[in-house]
Amino acid sequence: MTLFAQFTGYADPSLHAHGLYIGGQWQPGGGIPVIDPSSGATLAEVADASVQDAMRAVDAAEAAAAGWRQTPPRQRSEILRRWFTLMSEHAEDLARLISLENGKALSDARGEVAYAAEFFRWYAEEAVRIPGEFRRTPSGAHNILVDHEPIGIALLITPWNFPAAMATRKIGPALAAGCTVILKPASETPLTAYAMARLGEQAGVPPGVVNVLTTTNPGPLTNAMLADPRVRKLSFTGSTGVGRSLLAEAAKSVVSCSMELGGNAPFVVFDDADLDAAIEGAMVAKMRNAGEACTAANRFYVQSGIHDAFVSALTARMSALKVGAGYDPDTQVGPMITTRAVEKIDRLVTEAKARGARATTGGATIAGSGFYYPPTVLENVPVDAALAHEEIFGPVAPIYRFETEDEAIRLANNTEYGLAAYVYSGDMKRAMRVGRGIETGMVGINRGLMSDPAAPFGGVKQSGLGREGGVTGILEFMEAKYFAAEF
Ligand code: NAP
Repeated sequence: MTLFAQFTGYADPSLHAHGLYIGGQWQPGGGIPVIDPSSGATLAEVADASVQDAMRAVDAAEAAAAGWRQTPPRQRSEILRRWFTLMSEHAEDLARLISLENGKALSDARGEVAYAAEFFRWYAEEAVRIPGEFRRTPSGAHNILVDHEPIGIALLITPWNFPAAMATRKIGPALAAGCTVILKPASETPLTAYAMARLGEQAGVPPGVVNVLTTTNPGPLTNAMLADPRVRKLSFTGSTGVGRSLLAEAAKSVVSCSMELGGNAPFVVFDDADLDAAIEGAMVAKMRNAGEACTAANRFYVQSGIHDAFVSALTARMSALKVGAGYDPDTQVGPMITTRAVEKIDRLVTEAKARGARATTGGATIAGSGFYYPPTVLENVPVDAALAHEEIFGPVAPIYRFETEDEAIRLANNTEYGLAAYVYSGDMKRAMRVGRGIETGMVGINRGLMSDPAAPFGGVKQSGLGREGGVTGILEFMEAKYFAAEF
């Protein structure tokens, strides 16, 4: 519990919650250790929910559902807006907490809190703009009215890599739509979710509207909740493998699913790109969150004419990064989430090197406590290396050389994933043409950062179903109801 002492530096000690949050009550408990990836030490323990606890959360969400759905949109909006303000006021506390349990550099954690809070502000604004439709039938004889209703109780499952933002990106639209929710955060980073629930209470979220559960047993708990006819929505962010099995489970009760899954983003640089801008974008696209992002550039395809200059400039920038404990203010690259994550990165890099890749910086694990992997650039990587097909989820930039536009598009699309892609070119027509040719839900054109609460975030192929954020995000938590009205 030594590192728990660091919590005492917080402005608001009430954020240190670790019991289940069901129906507005905090149920104390333990059983799930939270590890500080920067040191490997245990930070705290959080409660381990049983299937019975999960069903109590469904009961609580059901008990609150009618009242919340009837709460005027303006009032729902104001609660979300207060939650945004409270997150902004507690930004430093939340950033330190994220940095402690996730390991990311404080600068990344601050960025995440700002991004996460914006989902509450954005959906506070959208809550009062829920769309409807009126039109005459083509025959001209009748009327078509379309209303949108809250879909019902939503189960929200989130990953560890953005412990605040992945939760607000779901809670914001769900509450704005009039749904009550059960949030199951990742076991590695539960403290942020509980701290945000505390702020939700202060913002005036009524008991049962938001429930939070942590568990060592996510499969059976989720299956039990999905089998309950009161649960009508599953919104999941995580790996494609778990997403596939949840889709199969949800199919049994025909539960509506939104899926934000894995990515394998190509980063394509043409000869006519502005090299400095491309390097700047590459650093953001690769190194935000130390590479632990679904949108992280995973494969750098660089055209022959600019290839060598790109490799040496990227190597210079990557080798200058300071690796260290996330909460050390000088740190630019924090640890990975677990030793397992480090082992996976090491396996992928070792395989690529055995097949001819060369590390121009990094390329081998770092000894010592904490789960570190150094910023790494690999050149001469075979296009069929394992790291071209699996998510690296770490600070490794594999660079591949290409000659033609068609080749770049073909290589970029050679993956089961389709979340994000980046294109750098001085020719906008070409950049847009290539962007259209790449099969992803999002394309950065001469930009290395695309996440924005006002934009629709999501993927195609095996990167997911549906979109979060933007104007359409709220509709993931609503059902259209059509009235065939005679008047
Ligand atoms: P993960 O292993 O799939 O876990 C995600 C969540 O699912 C966690 O809360 C986890 O709980 C839970 N879970 C695991 N097995 C489950 C089961 N059988 N039933 C129900 N829930 C289950 O993913 P992760 O390692 O946390 O996150 C990394 C992945 O998320 C990457 O693939 C990344 O690309 C993806 N991601 C995608 C987006 C996007 O917007 N597309 C954003 C961020 C991350 P426990 O922690 O308790 O196991």
